[in-house]
This record gives sequence, C-alpha cells and structure tokens, in this order.
Amino acid sequence: MSTDQNKFQAIISHCKEYGFVFPSSEIYDGLSAVYDYGQYGSELKKNIKDYWWKSMTQLHENIVGIDAAIFMHPTTWKASGHVDNFSDPMIDNKDSKKRYRVDHLIEAYAETLPEAEGNAVLARMDELLKENDFAGLKTLIEEKKISCTVSGTSNWTDVRQFNLMFSTQLGSVTDEASEIYLRPETAQGIFVNFLNVQKTGRMKVPFGIAQIGKAFRNEIVARQFIFRMREFEQMEMQFFVRPGTQKEWYEKWKEERMQWHLSLGTDPSKYRFKDHVKLAHYADAAVDIEFDFPIGFKEVEGIHSRTDFDLKQHQEYSKKKLQYFDTEINQNYVPYVIETSIGLDRMFLLTICNAYEEQDLSTPEKEDSRVVMKFPAKLAPIKLAVFPLTKKDGLPEVARLLVDSCKPYFHCFYEEKDAIGRRYRRQDAIGTPFCVTVDHQTKEDGTVTIRYRDTMEQERVPLTEVKNIVLSKIM
Ligand code: ATP
Repeated sequence: MSTDQNKFQAIISHCKEYGFVFPSSEIYDGLSAVYDYGQYGSELKKNIKDYWWKSMTQLHENIVGIDAAIFMHPTTWKASGHVDNFSDPMIDNKDSKKRYRVDHLIEAYAETLPEAEGNAVLARMDELLKENDFAGLKTLIEEKKISCTVSGTSNWTDVRQFNLMFSTQLGSVTDEASEIYLRPETAQGIFVNFLNVQKTGRMKVPFGIAQIGKAFRNEIVARQFIFRMREFEQMEMQFFVRPGTQKEWYEKWKEERMQWHLSLGTDPSKYRFKDHVKLAHYADAAVDIEFDFPIGFKEVEGIHSRTDFDLKQHQEYSKKKLQYFDTEINQNYVPYVIETSIGLDRMFLLTICNAYEEQDLSTPEKEDSRVVMKFPAKLAPIKLAVFPLTKKDGLPEVARLLVDSCKPYFHCFYEEKDAIGRRYRRQDAIGTPFCVTVDHQTKEDGTVTIRYRDTMEQERVPLTEVKNIVLSKIM
C-alpha cells in the first residue's frame, strides 16, 4: 500500500498557487471540507462535466439529461431509506473528543501493517460491517490497540450510527413538518421524475436519465483535500431495464464506464475494480472503480445494480404508480435500475493527480526544472496561449488577431510580459497544451512557432493553420 503524501501535499499547494482550488472562505480561515474552484479549476471542472454529459446524453440516443432541484419533498428521503439508513458507524476518542468513521480508523491502521496482516484485519472488518456488528468492531479496535492520532490513547466510546444528511427548515415556521434535507445524492431527483421523463420523452425501456448536480453529506472524517467534501458534485445516470436483465446491463455499464475513464488516455494499470463486500440496502450487486491516487487506490465511481427498490419505495410512499408498460412483452412492471455514479470533484482530483509531473530539466551548464500538468487536451482549462515575442514592431497586433480568430472556438490566453521561456513555464503549470509565439518572421512569411507542452518540441506552422491544429486535438 504505497502512498506518496509529499506528492499529494505538492499537488494541493499547486492547486492553490495556480488558481485551481482554494479553501472555502479562506479569509475566515476556511470551512472544513468545503472548497472553491478558482479560475482554472472551474474551467477544468466544467470540461470534465461536459465530457461526461456528452458521453452520456449525446452519444447514447437512449439517455436523456435532467436538472432536478436540490431540495426535495422530505418523504423522498424516508422512501429512499436515507432517513433510517444513511449513516456510518462512528467512534469517539474520549480523551481527544475526535470522532472517526470506524472503517477509516481500521483501514488507516491496516495500512501500517505488512500486507498479508493488513488484509486479514480488513477482511475481518468487512465481515463485521456486513453484519452491523458494532460490538465486534469495537472489540477489533481494542484488540489491535488502535489509537487516536491526536491523543495517542485507546480510550474509545461505543460504536454508534451517525446520519450524514444535512437538514434545514423550509419557510419561516420552525416545526418538524418544515424540516427538509439537502440531498445527499442526485439519484432520487431522477427516480421521482422517472414517469415525467418516460412519458414526455416517449422513452422505451431500456433507457437512462443522467444528471449532474450538488450533493451534501455531513462527512465526519473529511480530510484528504477534495477527495471527501461536505458539499460536492455528482454525475449520475440511472438506467432503467426490464426485470431479469439487470445482471447483463450491470456488466455492460461496468465495462463502458471503465472505457470512458481509459478514453482520456490514462494508464490502465492506475485503475482497478473493487467489488462491494457490504451491499447497500438497495443493491443486488455493486462495484467501485478505483484509481491509484498518491494517497492509495481509492473510489472514484460506483456502479450499482439498484434493483427496483427505489421506484417501488416511491410508489409505496407516494401512492402513485411508477410502472412501465412494455409493449414488446405486453407487460406492466417496475423497471430495474443500473446506476453509474461518479464524483465530479473526485474525477477532478484524479485528473489533477494524473497530470501533475515535476521534471528535472537540468543540463551540465544550467539547473532547470518545471512542473507540468499533462491534462488531456480536451480537458485543459486553456487550450492555446499566444505570445508576441516583443511588445513592439506590430507583433502584439498579429497575436491579438490570432486570439480573436480562435476564441469563439476554444479558450485562449494572451500574454506579452516576461521572457518567452517564463511564459511557457507558466502555461505548463496550468496545463495549456499549445503555445504559439508570433515573431518577426511571422510578418515576413505568415508562420508562427507552435510549442507542444508535453514534449516541449517546437515547429513552425502557418498562422492560418493554428486554429485547425488545436481543434483537431480537442474534439
Ligand atoms: P465513500 O465510500 O468514499 O464515502 P460512497 O460509496 O459513499 O463513497 P456513493 O454514495 O457511491 O459514494 O457516491 C458516488 C460517488 O460520489 C463516489 O464514487 C464519489 O466519487 C462521490 N462522493 C461520495 N461522497 C463524496 C464526498 N464526500 N466528497 C466527494 N465526492 C464524494
């Protein structure tokens, strides 16, 4: 279980220094596990979102998108099981008063052990979690003398459940009836709209509904930067299928989602599947797609076979029929559902971690280095930077014209300050795949130097070709 905390810290600093991610309300010392995306971060995040949205809704003729509200009728969360079940087993250290998610506490301990021993502890933990055996979990913690990182003691409370939903009041009257929740997942907005979309879109099973939106969870152990946040975004797709075909569709979506990740050019050995041992109350099969972050292999996406649980529950609680008439087999049924659920912020973190590279470029004559973000060109916040070599001789005007002709098509950046080398380095640090320099030769023969971020190679190309070169790499 190799982790690279130094690299992770360097990435966090880089994100802040270059306008990707800031702690929320930082001038007031931040808010724990809440983050803001800066000028480049918000572009990168939007590009990831667009890439996912397009792959779901544009490339699949049988998937449509919706945008449901964050607030939902409170009964939604009764029906979905979140009021009763959306909780994690927690334990408090009596000396430090620090609260831990039990699985995280044991996992962190297991990582300190030799691999075989660590795996044995994890296997035992999985069994206990599956059985909801809280006394057993506490015994395991005590037996292994797992201690609190703050107090250093093993003076623990009993293990208890803690609901992760945030609640607030709707309207001005404070009573129990007006209590509503910030949605802890976007999926329920899809389920309650199942019939609206099916009828108005004249959708035929199998079909999917996709959604991107905020979700909120009062995570207890919210560390590790944007990996675990209290306010985050999910990109979810619920695929409605005929009962009995769910296994087949589950396998298909498992494969398809992995291909989506790999389509971004990531090394396949950085990904793996991990089957769930403890299935959620609604699932008959579930797997995580994990990525090798500097903090270890961790979940980025879940694929869940949710059966007909959600629609049936909403049918029962709302007393409205949520059924589909399948003309091919002349039958009415509640469809089964395969869900693909990926955290946008985790995908962002994955993209950042995968792109970040510190390179030593020293020669015998000179020490040199750079930090380069090797984003896939289609995700890069800025696609093209244009630099006039000098601020005079009409070069800025030519460079400006190039920017003006390209900016309706993709994001450009213009800069005329500092030496060219320093301008290149700044673009490397934010992951701009192409830089173009306009120099005196441009005025003579209409060519410019294009410099490629990853190889740092440069070549002369006709100015009129720049737009097409960039477009061909980002589509
Ligand atoms: P975890 O085990 O890490 O708490 P989960 O299994 O509860 O995650 P799901 O409910 O399956 O997560 O949510 C789907 C996806 O949403 C996850 O794969 C993850 O990418 C993202 N996600 C869940 N919780 C958070 C969070 N607190 N911060 C950021 N992303 C999250």
